[in-house]
Amino acid sequence: MESMFEGLQLKLPFLKALNDENYKNPTPIQKECIPKALNGSDIIGIAQTGTGKTAAFSIPILQMLNASQPANKKRDTRALILAPTRELAIQIGSSVRLYGKYIAFKHTLIYGGVGQKTQVESLKRGVDLIIATPGRLLDLISQGVCKLDKVEYFVLDEADRMLDMGFINDVKKIVKVLPKQKQTLFFSATMPLAVENLASKLLNYPEHISIEPSSTPVQKIKQLVSFVRAEDKRKYLKNLLKEIKFNSVIIFTRTKHGANRLSTEIKSLNINSDALHGNKSQAARQRTLKDFKLGKINVLVATDIAARGIDIEGVSHIINFELPNVPEDYIHRIGRTARAGASGTAISICAPNEQPFLESIEKLMGFSIKVSDGKPSTNREEIYKKNKKRPPKKSININKTHSKTSSDIDAEEKRTPNNRRKSNKKKRKVFFKSTKFKAKK
Ligand code: AMP
Repeated sequence: MESMFEGLQLKLPFLKALNDENYKNPTPIQKECIPKALNGSDIIGIAQTGTGKTAAFSIPILQMLNASQPANKKRDTRALILAPTRELAIQIGSSVRLYGKYIAFKHTLIYGGVGQKTQVESLKRGVDLIIATPGRLLDLISQGVCKLDKVEYFVLDEADRMLDMGFINDVKKIVKVLPKQKQTLFFSATMPLAVENLASKLLNYPEHISIEPSSTPVQKIKQLVSFVRAEDKRKYLKNLLKEIKFNSVIIFTRTKHGANRLSTEIKSLNINSDALHGNKSQAARQRTLKDFKLGKINVLVATDIAARGIDIEGVSHIINFELPNVPEDYIHRIGRTARAGASGTAISICAPNEQPFLESIEKLMGFSIKVSDGKPSTNREEIYKKNKKRPPKKSININKTHSKTSSDIDAEEKRTPNNRRKSNKKKRKVFFKSTKFKAKK
């Protein structure tokens, strides 16, 4: 069971688990992060999903939890991992289960959109590790069901996404109930100012790890762009789906309604398709993802909710039916293909009014995407004027990117009817303003 992981101070139960997963070599972020985390350092990691960062933060935490089992029988929560979306939390949960399968520990998932009963029950029984999204976690804290005063290890994953989705204040409130003395591992794909400020407040003399943001996935992906008039997009897409040989495809649209409509049209071509977006219940979203993973659905039409973190093997094609207005989202979208060493193709269908978005994406990546069909509009100046948006003059440094604009898609998590955020907001306000709470800080 020789593996390159042995040099990283990992104990046998984890080496065995990694071997079971057939991971031969640590990824760059694992090589950097695992020993530093095991040494007790705070870490700020600039890295995206797809780089192997889940193992990079979860394995050292599991090893440290395992090394110091608490004396009392009832388990206190000693580690907290916060993720922006339920899907990502669920995915982290599955990884944690795999990596920790040879040690005795208990973990639970806390996220909204589902009933809280089973979550409350597992918290009452006691867990070592909680993986949570901020909204539901705050609700349970304010109900007095979730105690985090014994947390020793705290991971904030996808901090920039937290910001985009409007969760940053929730995160700050959660941080306030954590003990001051703890180890914090902070991850973000980009570093807008608000995220940088949050990091500076949370971290103590952190070790910096920066993994080339997009090079790994992007290099393995064949990227193409087709210039198509907006009114011809549907026809073009349908022909494309007939022409290309695909296993499974994710098509990205910008709106939930657009995703539903497109998925229905694709079904009429006798292709198994479903839509994935924030208006669907959590159960429906999980069912759709499961069916897609199992190959029961071949074409998944999704909003950006699926762009981050979702790890589905065997996605052969990404099609951007609409280009994202935030260039980093493009990188996240296409990173859903070419996972774990495979190759993949990303095709963007670009209407004339989307050309400024394309320019921003190309500036971010530092190269032009190969044209597959059509020609870019010649009257670009006119388009920019019409959109009141010029392409950025300076090239974008991914390590110091601008703050993102929240798209309608980003906001949809918050607007999901099931998540009860509004109804609980009042309750939380009262709780977090109480003097008792302040005294605890
Ligand atoms: P993550 O960035 O954590 O979402 O991981 C992306 C994908 O890489 C997941 O499918 C992991 O199972 C896989 N992975 C993580 N670490 C390794 C490794 N060292 N070798 C091979 N695959 C890995």
